[in-house]
This record gives sequence, C-alpha cells and structure tokens, in this order.
Amino acid sequence: MTEPHQFKTIIEPFRIHSVEEIAVTDQGQRQTALERVHYNLFGLHADEVTIDLLTDSGTGAMSSRQWAGMMLGDESYAGSRSFYKFRDAVTELTGMPEVIPTHQGRAAERILFTETLAAGDVVPNNTHFDTTRANVEYQGAQALDIVIEEGHDPASRHPFKGDMDLAQLEHILTAESSRVPLVMVTVTNNSGGGQPVSMANLRAVSEMCHQHAVPFFLDACRFAENAWFIKMRESGYADRTPLEISQEMFSLADGCTFSAKKDGLANIGGFLAMRDASVADRCRNLLILTEGFPTYGGLAGYDLEAIAQGLHEVVDEHYLRYRIRSTAYLAEKINGAGIPTVQPTGGHAVYIDAKQLLPHIPPARFPAQALAVEIYRTGGVRGVEIGSVMFGKVGGDGDEIPALMELVRLAIPRRTYTQSHIDYVAEVLIEVASRADEIPGYRIVRQAPWLRHFTAAFEPI
Ligand SMILES: *Cc1c(COP(=O)(O)O)cnc(C)c1O
Repeated sequence: MTEPHQFKTIIEPFRIHSVEEIAVTDQGQRQTALERVHYNLFGLHADEVTIDLLTDSGTGAMSSRQWAGMMLGDESYAGSRSFYKFRDAVTELTGMPEVIPTHQGRAAERILFTETLAAGDVVPNNTHFDTTRANVEYQGAQALDIVIEEGHDPASRHPFKGDMDLAQLEHILTAESSRVPLVMVTVTNNSGGGQPVSMANLRAVSEMCHQHAVPFFLDACRFAENAWFIKMRESGYADRTPLEISQEMFSLADGCTFSAKKDGLANIGGFLAMRDASVADRCRNLLILTEGFPTYGGLAGYDLEAIAQGLHEVVDEHYLRYRIRSTAYLAEKINGAGIPTVQPTGGHAVYIDAKQLLPHIPPARFPAQALAVEIYRTGGVRGVEIGSVMFGKVGGDGDEIPALMELVRLAIPRRTYTQSHIDYVAEVLIEVASRADEIPGYRIVRQAPWLRHFTAAFEPI
C-alpha cells in the first residue's frame, strides 16, 4: 500500500480554502416554511435549507485556481484572450475546431436546433434532458427517446444503462433518415438516472449515423463522469486516463452541446462545438442575435477562464474517483438500511424509489413529493421529486395519469459537501424511512398548465 487510493478511505482530494455558512433550522421553522410554500420545495428560500441536493447544476465549488483565473479574465468585447484560452481547452478535449460559447447548455441547444431542425423532423436520443426535449419540440420536431430496455428498469444492474437501443436507431435511420437531421446521445444519461453510456455503444451509434450520413452529437454535460464509468467497467479502458477516454468519446462525434454547470465545474456557462465550419458559421450568426459576439457568447471573460480551468480539473483521476465514490457511498449507506434506490448508482445523484418505500400512497397522491417534503421537514435536506408531479398528466376527465416511476432525486453538488454532511443526510433518510407508513399523501390544489412542478401548491391528505 503506497498510493493514497489503495487505502479503503477515499478522501476528498482537496482541502477547504474558503467556507460558507449553512442554515441550521429547527423543525418548527421548517414546518412554517413548508406551509408558506404550500409544500412545494422549489418555493423555499435557500437559507431555509441545510443540505441542498436539489441539483448538481451550477452548485459546485470552484477551485482556488479557477478563482485565480477569474482575476485574469479579459473583458474585451472582441478577441478576448480568455476566449482563446477557453477555445483551446475545449478543442484539446473534444478535437472540435469550432467552439461557440453560450450562457448555458440550453442556449447551445436552441442555436443548434434552430439551425438544423425543421417541423416534422425526428431527433433520436438515449433520453432527452427536459430542456433538450423542449428545444427540439419548439422547432416542431419530435424528440424520440430510445434508451435500451434495461434503462427503464430501476432494479436492473446493467453496467451501461444509458446505452442507446441500436436496433431502434437502425430502424429509424433506415426507414426515414431524411427526417433525422442529427442523432444525440446524452452522457451520462441524466433523465435516466445519471447512467453511463459505453464506448462500444457510442462507437456503434457513430458508425450507424455515418453510414446514413447523419451527424452525431453528444449532449456532453457529464462527459468526465461517463469516462470514469468506462474506465471502471468497460474492458480495455482500465489503464487509460479519463482525458484519453473523454477524447475518444468526442472523437466519435461530429459535435456536442455542453453545460459548464456540470462537468465544467463552473457556476454558469456552456458551449456548442463541432467539426463542420459552415454549420458553425450559421450558428454564430444566431449567437450574435441573442447571446453575444462569438468570442464571449453571453459569458464574461472571467467565466471563460473558470470553465477553461474547470475542464482541466474535471478529468483528474483523484477528483473522479472521489466524485463517483461519494455518490455511491450515500446510496450504499441507505440501501444497507433497506431504502430502495435506482441501481446501479449513477454519477451525480441518488434516486430513491418512493413507490417501493411508500406503497400505501397511490401515484395520484404523489408518493415521491410526500417523501421529499418529509425529508425536508425532518432534516432540512432538499431533494427533488421526479415522478407524477413532474411527469404525470391530467386526463380529460380531470384524473391524474401517473408517471412511470416515483423517484426522489438527491443530486450531489461537486466538491461542496463533506463526508459528514453525507452521513447526516443518510441518517435523516433512515429516520424518515423508519416511519414511512405514517407519511401522508398530497393533493394538488393549484397548478400551472405546463411545468407544474415548479409552482404547484399542495396540501396533505
Ligand atoms: C443541465 C443539462 C442540460 C441543459 O444545460 P443548462 O446549462 O441547464 O441550460 C442539457 N442536457 C443535460 C443532460 C443536462 O444535464
């Protein structure tokens, strides 16, 4: 035993340089807050939350090198030095020469789809993230999810549950390739539980697309976490570095969209990158219209610096080992106490199966919402419902049509919480689970016609 990672304890590969106080509330304060927000956790002030696991997007801690980089930000309108540093970091990683900075991932999506999609087109993806789906549909095109069968089964332990179903892809490309302007694969598959996609699957998708002359794009938000899973699980990759594996993933694609709020280790930002210079030129014209000049694209020079540095840090082996392990650690702890979660644990979040934990609450009474509320009330821990509130529909007769799964997602911000925070979260969850049968269901008393989960008002039954 000579290397730190050969010891059983996997340490946070950083020490803390600056601290931020967290809110410690009592149960009475949390109950008052819950009543004020009508049991919708999106309505809470962040200062009412002790451990915030609502999302891993833009919530990570930047490193001292990223902060130092921000002081070097060049805020020139055109030709900023920070842009070239950013572009070189993206090109080194992706091999793609055309790099278009955007303020978030969804701006990259909107620009790409405005340029490439027409009404009636079809975009296959393993699973569209919600903004990706919305931006495809906004162009009048169809967002088609074709993840492998195992990707729909919370209990399946397939090592690459984010893989695309190749038979379905072949079928679509053979039957109607003229209606498919591009194919996308999301790494890791966020909406499918943060599950990875294998290199073999990416290679097969790439070959199939190129046989049919259809461009292949990655939704690359969590490319580094995906690369780590390939290193751990796919034969032939154990001795390759995460950077080399990432570069191989990108080498199979013609372009990518990216949210720097995930594996950019930044609080804001994104990009669109590709190989085709003429498509990129047209995208840049759209960028100028709504985002900004091509050398900043809706970002400050200092944001470009932070992202360029983040892209170097995120492929560090020590970071990725700690990152993926700390997510699995929470899942193992609560699984050990009998709390069911989506298996195997994905990269950025733990998904509790509320349907199994709260069998007395029917889907129309929102078991995952009920569980998320109870977790907050008990310990000030905020997760998010991913179930019938988010994805269910109201039928013509006013009845609820439930979603396929009832999950509470606990997303882990990058480099933000320590092991004792996570131990605390596990303790809260285990306490809640011990009185699962007392948790009430909820009914919706007020809701918006779309994306209701953000603003709906609930009451316990
Ligand atoms: C977050 C995310 C996006 C959108 O990025 P934003 O920066 O939030 O606009 C797209 N795809 C996936 C898979 C994501 O996780």
